Amino acid sequence: MTARIIDGKAVAAAIRDRIAGEVAGLAAAGVVPGLAAVLVGDDPASAVYVDGKERDCRAVRMRWLGVRLPAGTTQRDLHREIDRLNADPDVSGIIVQMPLPGGLDAVAAQERIDPAKDVDGLHPVNGGRLLRGDPTFVPATPLGCQLLLAEYGIPVAGANVVIVGRSQLVGRPLALLLSLRAANATVTLCHTGTADLAAHTRRADIVVVATGHPHTLTAEMIVPGAAVVDVGINRRADGSLFGDVDFPEVARVAGAITPVPGGVGPMTRAMLLANTLLAARRHAGIAG
Ligand code: NDP
Repeated sequence: MTARIIDGKAVAAAIRDRIAGEVAGLAAAGVVPGLAAVLVGDDPASAVYVDGKERDCRAVRMRWLGVRLPAGTTQRDLHREIDRLNADPDVSGIIVQMPLPGGLDAVAAQERIDPAKDVDGLHPVNGGRLLRGDPTFVPATPLGCQLLLAEYGIPVAGANVVIVGRSQLVGRPLALLLSLRAANATVTLCHTGTADLAAHTRRADIVVVATGHPHTLTAEMIVPGAAVVDVGINRRADGSLFGDVDFPEVARVAGAITPVPGGVGPMTRAMLLANTLLAARRHAGIAG
């Protein structure tokens, strides 16, 4: 078997087009969604991520507000900036780019963001709503994984889904999302304490890998026909990217698989725009 390649780039492009159309429609009603990104310090990788978000935002004609603070910024100054953005009616969504320089408390910064503007979905209020079963802002990567499966007609309801990695950003919210009644998957969440990872992945209809470790999933760890979603991003010495899955070998056995790059990554970016659009609609009192 050779797996169907799940083209996240194409799906994300279609979503961006749809969002651009909705932004144009809102503009006609006098509403312009705005995303503010706070970048503290001069970590080059973080700057690249923020630049990408700015490009995405401008491409769909959302308002962009980039806030760059020096590496020596204090927690109090960071909070003051977040407070300012919370109060700015032109800002629909706020993100604080991670990681923050040492000495700054990321959790406190996330909690400072108005939950109604928390388009990264990391505020405890939004985590709590997801837990309760009526999510508003779900982190972009889990949302993107769910949408990719839906776009490719891969059944989630009733499926055994094994997620490898339990981070607050990816694995745990994805486990919650797919186990909601609306999705109806049976979810197993694995991590470094899992005794026999392969025993779990071999029972899965869908495996999602988000560990940050190459070759976490190899061909003998799945059943033929399983769908594989690779969230991981690793970098070779030449700068090229690859995932957590042994792609060439797993693709011979899987039914469908996301590549890296071009799988989950573009979806994550598109879902941040979708969350910002949702925030703008909600602020304007328009159902979305
Ligand atoms: P974290 O480091 O926060 O979490 C990694 C998780 O994987 C932990 O729960 C860890 O377990 C688990 N883990 C690590 N190694 C193994 C293993 N060998 N077997 C089982 N579980 C393991 O990472 P993130 O969730 O933030 O990111 C994961 C990867 O996804 C990274 O490569 C990151 O760059 C990428 N990423 C990609 C995105 C995209 O848009 N494509 C977006 C976000 C992240 P334990 O809890 O026990 O330590």
